[in-house]
Amino acid sequence: MSLAHGRPHLAIPGPSVMPDRVLQAMHRPAPNIYEGELVEMVEGIVPDLKAVARTGHQVAMYIANGHGAWEAALANTHSRGQKALVLATGRFAHGWSEMARRMGIECEIVDFGKSSDVDMARVAEALAADTEQAFNSVLVVQVDTSTSVKNDIAGVRDALDAAGHPALLMVDCIACLACDRFDMDGWGVDVMVTGCQKGLMTPPGLSFVYFNDRAEAARDRADCVTSYWDWRPRAYPDDFYQYFGGTAPTHHLYGLRAALDMIAEEGLEQVWARHEVLARAVWAAFDAWGVEGPVAMNIADPAKRSVAVTSVRIGAPHGTALRNWLSETAGVTLGIGLGMADSRDPAWHGFFRVAHMGHVNSHMVLGTLGAIEAGMTALGIPHGKGALEAAAVVCAVT
Ligand SMILES: *Cc1c(COP(=O)(O)O)cnc(C)c1O
Repeated sequence: MSLAHGRPHLAIPGPSVMPDRVLQAMHRPAPNIYEGELVEMVEGIVPDLKAVARTGHQVAMYIANGHGAWEAALANTHSRGQKALVLATGRFAHGWSEMARRMGIECEIVDFGKSSDVDMARVAEALAADTEQAFNSVLVVQVDTSTSVKNDIAGVRDALDAAGHPALLMVDCIACLACDRFDMDGWGVDVMVTGCQKGLMTPPGLSFVYFNDRAEAARDRADCVTSYWDWRPRAYPDDFYQYFGGTAPTHHLYGLRAALDMIAEEGLEQVWARHEVLARAVWAAFDAWGVEGPVAMNIADPAKRSVAVTSVRIGAPHGTALRNWLSETAGVTLGIGLGMADSRDPAWHGFFRVAHMGHVNSHMVLGTLGAIEAGMTALGIPHGKGALEAAAVVCAVT
């Protein structure tokens, strides 16, 4: 039998749960794109987008997913033949560097594997070895959504400063903006890319490139930039249509407006704190389950885990079996184990991910954990006891 006939819960790390308020904001007739309410609304979105990234610098909006923002960020800052230093802690930095390579940017990858964060000693070494200061940029992902590792972005800035290296610090915050703490200006980030469908709780289709004055200066020299991806008219539009290089993504913007309102009403510090507590509840459950049997979180040190997503190893075929059981029998969909093994390798079935990003509360997280416990019980996967009690204790905030 199935117990899945209630409201389904999507616990994959993007797209994330869409708040009813976001959906309702989008449910409206087509607006005028030349004047009136929409035009005013977009002018108000810009400062709120800057506030969630803690920056007083610029933001350009694109009708694109995160991959579009990746390309835009590279195009506005690089010329063909220039070099980038890529700090890889999972699948996403490799994806970004592959894109860079196809644009004619030479990438040197320092790979930290699939279960570790960026090691600053190795960054310092790579920068010191660049005696000509040929790296135009350092590309790093704050939270790699495949491994769920969180990198110390301020630490990368310190490494650049200590080396006296002028490379731009370019950060992918697609997985974790408005989940894990981020402070663009405080941490000296030059370029940041993000999308709307994770912490920003809006259906996929909008992405954002933030840039400061140093990055803006690099834009003057960049020969990769093309007219559609140029961030300049989007960040300093003379006319409304320039924000999006054409017709505005009207309904996404209404959804985003509602999502930014929700973040502002809760308060960004509180949003971060909520993610922190809910993540600790998830980790407490996995710690208890892991006492016996095959379940283990991919990142051992809690300080290095993202509070947006948790990657888990459970051994093949348990990962796929558990995911299937949960979606068919409990109404919860977990994320696949992205990038931990090749999808043709049987080991691929030994991983899954639990997203706890964006519009999630303790009842959703405790419900997901309860369903995982039921699934492991139903499938005979050995696991330690007391996980739900441990998670409930974490959520017992006053
Ligand atoms: C989701 C994600 C991406 C890709 O975003 P798309 O919208 O799928 O293009 C890139 N980087 C990270 C860290 C992500 O989490």
